[in-house]
Amino acid sequence: MILVLGGAGYIGSHAVKILIESGESVVVVDNLETGHLASVNKKAIFYQVDIRDEEALTAVFEAHDIEAILHFSANSLVGESCENPLKYFENNVYGANVLLKVMRDHDVKKIIFSSTAAVYGEPKIVPITEESETLPTNPYGESKLMMEKMFKWSDAAHGIKFVSLRYFNVAGADKSGDIGEAHTVETHLIPLVLQVPLGKREAISIYGDDYPTKDGTCIRDYIHVIDLIHAHLLALNYLRAGNESNIFNLGSGSGFSVKEVIEVAEEVTGKPIKTLIAPRRSGDPSVLIASPEKAKAILKWEPKHTNVREIIEDAWRFHINKPNGY
Ligand code: UDP
Repeated sequence: MILVLGGAGYIGSHAVKILIESGESVVVVDNLETGHLASVNKKAIFYQVDIRDEEALTAVFEAHDIEAILHFSANSLVGESCENPLKYFENNVYGANVLLKVMRDHDVKKIIFSSTAAVYGEPKIVPITEESETLPTNPYGESKLMMEKMFKWSDAAHGIKFVSLRYFNVAGADKSGDIGEAHTVETHLIPLVLQVPLGKREAISIYGDDYPTKDGTCIRDYIHVIDLIHAHLLALNYLRAGNESNIFNLGSGSGFSVKEVIEVAEEVTGKPIKTLIAPRRSGDPSVLIASPEKAKAILKWEPKHTNVREIIEDAWRFHINKPNGY
C-alpha cells in the first residue's frame, strides 16, 4: 500500500491517478485545507486527516500495511510564507516531525517528498545542479530545506530512506482534463494567464520587465505535472531496489520568459491576453533553470512533455472543462 499525503492537491491528485493506473493500491490523507475531495481518484481510500494530528495519523498507519509514502502536503506560497513564516514552520516542519515519528514507530522506511527550487535562493550559476549552494530567500524554501535535513538525520538514526525531489515550476494537467490546478487563491503564472481568456480576469500583471534577460521578464523552467509524477514512480522503484537516500532536481532544463508564456497562451487559446507591467515581486530570482542531469542519469528519468505549448494546452483543457474549479 502506498500512502499519499496531500493527495487531494494539484500535484498529489495527479500522483494518485497515475499510481492507481500503474497498479498500486493507494491510501490518501489530506486535511482538505487547500485540496479538493473531488480530485481524488475514486479507487483510492481517503482519510480527511491533518498530518500534525499524531493520533489520527497513527490510526491510518495501523489500519493499513504501508510500504512507502509520497508526501505532497505542505503550504507552498512564497509570498504568504514571508508574511506568516510560523504557519510554514508549523505545517511543513512540525508536520514532517510528526510524520517521521509515526513512520519510525511503524517501521515505514521509504518516503519520497516534494522539495523545491526555492531551497537554492538566488542562483549564482544556471543551470542549477544539486551541488549548488542552498540559501533560501523565503520561509517556504527554508521550511523545505529544514525538512530535507530532518529526513537526512532520520535516515542516519532510523534507516528511513528518502528521495527529495526539488521541483522547478510545475504546470499542465492530466490529458483527460478532469484534474488540474485549481487553487482558491491562485498565484502561479500559467493558471493566472489563462484566467484572462476564460473571462475571469481583465489582464495579467507582468511582475517586472527590467530583469537582465532577453525580453526583461523572468525566466523559469516549466515542468509538466505528468513528467513530474513519473519521476516519483521512478524514485519509488529506486528506493524499492534498496538504494541510498538522494536528492534530485526536477525541471526540463530549458527556460521560458513570462512574456513567452503569455504569447504561447494567446496562440493556444486563440484569444488576445491583455498585460500590465507591474513592479517586481519581492524574492523573485531573474532566472531559474534546472539541471535535470542527475535525475536522468540515476533515476533514468526522461521528461516527455517539455514543450511549454503542450503544458499550456493541457492546462487550458482542464480550465475549459472546469472553469470554476472543482
Ligand atoms: N508572474 C507574473 N505575474 C503573475 C504571476 C507570476 O509575472 O501574475 C511571474 C513571476 O514573477 C515569476 C514567474 O511568473 O517570474 C513564475 O511565477 P510563479 O508564481 O508561477 O512561480 P515561482 O517561480 O514563483 O515558483
